[in-house]
Amino acid sequence: MLKPRECIRSLGAYHAPTAGRCGLNLDLNENTGGCSPRVLARLKKMTGSDIAHYAEREGGERLVAEFLGVAPNQVLLTNGVDEGLHLLADSYLAQGDEAILIAPTFTMYPIYIQGAGARIVEVPCEEELAYPTERVLAAINGQTRLIAIANPNNPTGTTVARGDLVQIVRAAPNAAVIVDEAYFEFFGETLLDQLANFENLFITRTFSKAYGLAGLRVGAIVGASGQVDVIRRFVSPFNVNGVALACLGDALADQEFMRSYVAQVREGRARLQELCKEIGLRYWPSQANFVLVRVGPRSREFCAALERRGILVRDRSSEPGCAGCVRITVGLREHTDQLLPALRAALAEIGITNKVSA
Ligand code: PMP
Repeated sequence: MLKPRECIRSLGAYHAPTAGRCGLNLDLNENTGGCSPRVLARLKKMTGSDIAHYAEREGGERLVAEFLGVAPNQVLLTNGVDEGLHLLADSYLAQGDEAILIAPTFTMYPIYIQGAGARIVEVPCEEELAYPTERVLAAINGQTRLIAIANPNNPTGTTVARGDLVQIVRAAPNAAVIVDEAYFEFFGETLLDQLANFENLFITRTFSKAYGLAGLRVGAIVGASGQVDVIRRFVSPFNVNGVALACLGDALADQEFMRSYVAQVREGRARLQELCKEIGLRYWPSQANFVLVRVGPRSREFCAALERRGILVRDRSSEPGCAGCVRITVGLREHTDQLLPALRAALAEIGITNKVSA
């Protein structure tokens, strides 16, 4: 009988995260304002010949490298950061190795690690969902080959201090330390400047969020050239599609579009947090394009009540430390205008009134 490897078979059941979504999608941290009009103009100009040919990734890598201020051989473009994380897990992990994750964090990290046959060492967050730096440092040992850190973290929106990140990278020279900066634009702090000091540091970036290209799938691994060169031998040659590569330059060039979107997200994030404070709902101050809010034991009913009002949010209550919590994406100003009254109405409908705590 044909059997996939045990580590693959033991993964949880697959649920398409996007099945049947309609309305205002505030559930997957996408860009609610779409992409730059320059990207749409480029799409309209594409020809049959553009589609018929295999596309070269190298031009896109030069553009991204120049934008980030690193050398082109330090950048590997991937089919979203998801593929980049998958590649990093497969490149650095073998059976019996250990990979350190905090909990809660981005749901794909454990899947790629487990798929590579490695063991997950899960370090719970501190009380207030703060990054458990001391416990991560204590978990590093001779078997540690990978540490993945989302900064800002998903689903909490919280961040890790620069000094703590550097300490971790320094403490684990035989491990690939991934600092996943998928939400960088909404935060503004990066560890890119430390790449020159550490060959075990990898920074990942995505064009899915602030640039609005989630459907095109472009992400980047940025690291020491010696390491990235090796991963490049292993990646599929045409992993980033030609349409995405054709549009990348336009997306990057339209910084005005991106900045205007980020400004609206930051403003919306503050408004949502303000409302939570007013109502008495616990939330975690976020540096990303979403806010984690504790609505209490009726979080599922709350999500359903919002859905009836045409807004999808993500129940995260099954995540460690997130009992009763819902993750709400923030987008364009007009979407925040739509969200805030709907949130009040949904809470009222299910009987959560002022000054509840969960
Ligand atoms: N890392 C983190 C922390 C994320 O939240 C996400 C998207 N939800 C990703 C990576 C994947 O992004 P992409 O669309 O580039 O695959």
